[in-house]
Amino acid sequence: MTAPAAELLQLQRKAERERITGYEPEFRLEVKDLDELSEWSRSGVSDGDVSRALRSARRTPEDLAALISPTAQSRLEELAASAHAATVRRFGRVMQMFAPVYLSNECVSECTYCGFQVFNRDIVRKTIPPKQAAIETRYLGSLGFRHVLLVSGEHPKHVSADYVCDCIRECARHTSSVSVEVQAWDEQTYRRFVEAGCDGLVIYQEVYDPRRYGDFHLKGNKRFWGWRLGAPERALSAGMRRIGLGSLVGLNSDWRWEALALASHASFLMRRFWRSEVTVSLPRLEPATGFERPLKAMSDRELAQALAALRLTLPDAGIVLSTREPAWLRDGLVRLGVTHMSAGSRTEPGGYCEPGGAEQQFEVADHRPAAQVAAMLRDAGYDPVWKESSPALRRSATTSDLRI
Ligand code: SF4
Repeated sequence: MTAPAAELLQLQRKAERERITGYEPEFRLEVKDLDELSEWSRSGVSDGDVSRALRSARRTPEDLAALISPTAQSRLEELAASAHAATVRRFGRVMQMFAPVYLSNECVSECTYCGFQVFNRDIVRKTIPPKQAAIETRYLGSLGFRHVLLVSGEHPKHVSADYVCDCIRECARHTSSVSVEVQAWDEQTYRRFVEAGCDGLVIYQEVYDPRRYGDFHLKGNKRFWGWRLGAPERALSAGMRRIGLGSLVGLNSDWRWEALALASHASFLMRRFWRSEVTVSLPRLEPATGFERPLKAMSDRELAQALAALRLTLPDAGIVLSTREPAWLRDGLVRLGVTHMSAGSRTEPGGYCEPGGAEQQFEVADHRPAAQVAAMLRDAGYDPVWKESSPALRRSATTSDLRI
């Protein structure tokens, strides 16, 4: 590179960094309120508070705190029955199926929990060309999937905006719906993704608590909490139809704080972008290459409780359940409000058609092929839907009132 070109690149990087660090999302997380609410949830909720929350027609953040409290654990069956009834009423007995297509495990970020992080020298790095992403999409189409989620690490060269656009364009020719789970971009880039054929963005905050976020995100653009927090609003402003939010359970030891923050974020987006479809997820940390088995910060029973509580508090939001959870648990959780499931997932680039060519991001716990998961759903009385077909969801008054 010539000296002026190198200088220009440096200036561009500096401007980009200033834009990211100076950015403030419209969504405000009220940390003090969340501290008080999660503390009350852990130790102040009475059985009467749980009864009130279960009966409520317009559930508030306090109701959510009551429903996820240790006090409510003894009433899980009641909670589950209400969540099931609310789901059937709002979404029917359908389960939206999707599958991830991993594009690249190249990454310049350092997230302490991820096998793709930059300092992990033990893994084989791979980026598949857009044509191969299309082949993976076609293969998934042969299994029934009409909705793919393109996933990649964060790398300015290997996973540029141009590359992501090319992948979207190629894959969109072979399927009905393409979403992306890639680095946080600006609104202009999201607009390019939409024009290329992308209609959904999945971007988990991982850790909502800004005081803990930096403990796990040490290097790369992902370490800028506010820039990531504002990505959903930038994407929705750019014309994306669907947004997937989530908190990675096991990072912040207070999962109740995270669940309350997640609900607050979802609620804000559903009010602010009322035509959009918002999904929420509470994936639990799984081991990855170079990362030991994490502590189970949330028991299976607590996961069931949290999903049921989110369903009751956010009646219009989709709830996503990934293959991180084992088959027996996923089968049980289906009835608690889950509306979207991945199945038969491979988490390495090119993993469907050329398995074993690169490392996985994390260990999948449900190894059943998609057809077997679909058969389980049918046996349970659900209709697996392979195409992301729902138009913009209409909001109920209940959702629009949740505010923290
Ligand atoms: S979580 Fe994403 S950004 Fe972080 S190291 Fe893994 S691939 Fe990179």
